[in-house]
Amino acid sequence: MTSPIDPKGELLRIAAEVISVGTELLLGEILNTNAQFLAQELARLGIPHYYQTTVGDNVLRLQRAVAIACDRSQLLIFTGGLGPTPDDLTTETLADFFGVPLVERSDVLEDIAQKFARRGRVMTPSNRKQALIPKGAEVLPNPTGTAPGMIWQPRPGLTILTFPGVPSEMQTMWEQTAVPFLRSQGWGQEIIYSRTLRFWGIGESALAEKADALLKLENPTVAPYAGKGEVRLRVSAKAGSDSEAIALIEPVAQQLRELGGTDYYGEDEDTLAVAVGNLLKANQQTLAVAESCTGGGLGQLLTAVSGSSAYFWGGVISYDNQVKINLLGVNPNDLAQQGAVSDVVAQQMAIGVRQRLGTTWSLSITGVAGPDGGTAAKSVGLVYIGLAGPDDRVESFRYEFGDRGREMVRWLSACNALDRLRRKLLGAAR
Ligand code: ATP
Ligand code: MG
Repeated sequence: MTSPIDPKGELLRIAAEVISVGTELLLGEILNTNAQFLAQELARLGIPHYYQTTVGDNVLRLQRAVAIACDRSQLLIFTGGLGPTPDDLTTETLADFFGVPLVERSDVLEDIAQKFARRGRVMTPSNRKQALIPKGAEVLPNPTGTAPGMIWQPRPGLTILTFPGVPSEMQTMWEQTAVPFLRSQGWGQEIIYSRTLRFWGIGESALAEKADALLKLENPTVAPYAGKGEVRLRVSAKAGSDSEAIALIEPVAQQLRELGGTDYYGEDEDTLAVAVGNLLKANQQTLAVAESCTGGGLGQLLTAVSGSSAYFWGGVISYDNQVKINLLGVNPNDLAQQGAVSDVVAQQMAIGVRQRLGTTWSLSITGVAGPDGGTAAKSVGLVYIGLAGPDDRVESFRYEFGDRGREMVRWLSACNALDRLRRKLLGAAR
């Protein structure tokens, strides 16, 4: 492929655009998983990809989409609209747009006829349509379905690939023919490798401000993302190999970890529970939990980590007050006076479960998850977290998460409990 060179002699960035054709996509009847697959593949191959377009089965709008796409992208990847019905218009619209006649490919017609015969079905005249491709285009074979795609360079510097909409057919064709073709044309010689750094306890804008200078880098790039209660920085490098990319990423990642301080807790698939588990293992310490409003959610996060039995002993789901009193030793008078959602009850739950299970540390959670159960004094989203440790030293922390939905309040409660212990184990206050 000839790459355009700008006047300064630099290679211009050449990029792909995915164009998904199908009215059912616009109606929200199906999810555009083809675009997701292709986006992941393009990223893996290191092919720049700046635009995606979704357009219905309509000649005029499809032509407009093509006009815009070939103005800004050099590799256009179409999915959908290759079938035999009148609403399948991709091939003829493309031929028409570039002013090239369609020709019937006898080898394709033969292939379609054989596939019909093998399935014991009768080929209809409309299926002949699938054997038409623009003059000068090559067939992109479809080993599993009837509609083939095409590989076409209608003018220098522009490559068009078309695929049927059916995801399994599209993926096989992509892997078997399109990827080797693209590689042979000089696309995808570089890979993009990413590492995600994860932070808890700092907002996206605060972290972005701290990392300001690094967010302007070009290789690797650093991009912030807000997760559920956390912030992630994705560091991505383009290079000829994984090891070259890692060598570019690592010094930047190290600077970001230092900037994040104790708000940095892990990488890629690491969770707060993994971070806590690693610290407990390193100290040879153990943990128990007492959960009210999370109903086992904290235990679930902890036990999702393989090998967690080395440090996590178990817990009590003390949802009802009688369980708080009978199994955890919470004082009934304190419960009556302060209510279940209170500092004192969180502390007594933590002390109770730690003593009964005999662990180094314990965490407790009590709160109003909502949407019902809020009062003027204790609104939805009010949560207390207790943390007890050696010598029965106990602390509690008050959170107001607000009425953000029951699942979010429960998630934030469990994660903040883990984060409190993580900071304690690091010897760092928040
Ligand atoms: P066919 O030969 O089956 O008609 P086609 O190339 O004409 O294929 P469409 O008719 O657009 O493609 O889609 C066929 C089926 O593939 C749709 O019913 C849909 O389930 C699925 N499909 C189409 N486009 C997408 C997409 N972008 N993402 C996921 N699935 C898709
Ligand atoms: Mg169709």
